[in-house]
Amino acid sequence: MSAPSDVTVTLVRGDITRQSVDAVVNAANSSLLGGGGVDGAIHRRGGPAILAACRELRASRYGKGLRPGQAVATTAGKLDARWVVHTVGPVWSRNEDRSALLESCYRESLRVAAELGARTVAFPAISTGVYGWPMDDGARIAVRTVLAEAAPPVEEVRFVLFDADAYGEFEEALAAARP
Ligand code: ADP
Repeated sequence: MSAPSDVTVTLVRGDITRQSVDAVVNAANSSLLGGGGVDGAIHRRGGPAILAACRELRASRYGKGLRPGQAVATTAGKLDARWVVHTVGPVWSRNEDRSALLESCYRESLRVAAELGARTVAFPAISTGVYGWPMDDGARIAVRTVLAEAAPPVEEVRFVLFDADAYGEFEEALAAARP
């Protein structure tokens, strides 16, 4: 569908490391030194250049790591992409509303990607894996924030969903967001 800013939002079921896009967003952990899930898959397929760039960021601007809601770009190594944008999702909490941090992940990743000149950006469902965010709410926040924030030069935002459940929740969220 078309956002007010004319950005096309697409849903794909598959592996985010297999996408041909300008920027692949990584659901990173705050150490920037790799982890499981999307993070592990990106480092495995992208090769050591991404980890080397992350280590440089740790040695310079992000000595304490990346905070939830922040985003920073590196090379995409051997991925079919120009950049990986690393963002750290909030861990789901039953007692505290951390949705502003999850919104910030999408907004900041788009800002970083746009600054680099990315036209196509692929996102995973941030925080919905190890970090435990419920998929229905994670999908609503993702779709709402991308529709509100995506702007040129970004032309396409692609949500890459690993399984049928995630795909279904994003489909519903996108349908509900349609004006
Ligand atoms: P977080 O730590 O932010 O929760 P995860 O990487 O654990 O991040 O999971 C985020 C979402 O990405 C989950 O819904 C998970 O099923 C999905 N996922 C895991 N690997 C991939 C992959 N290679 N491509 C796309 N999505 C993936």
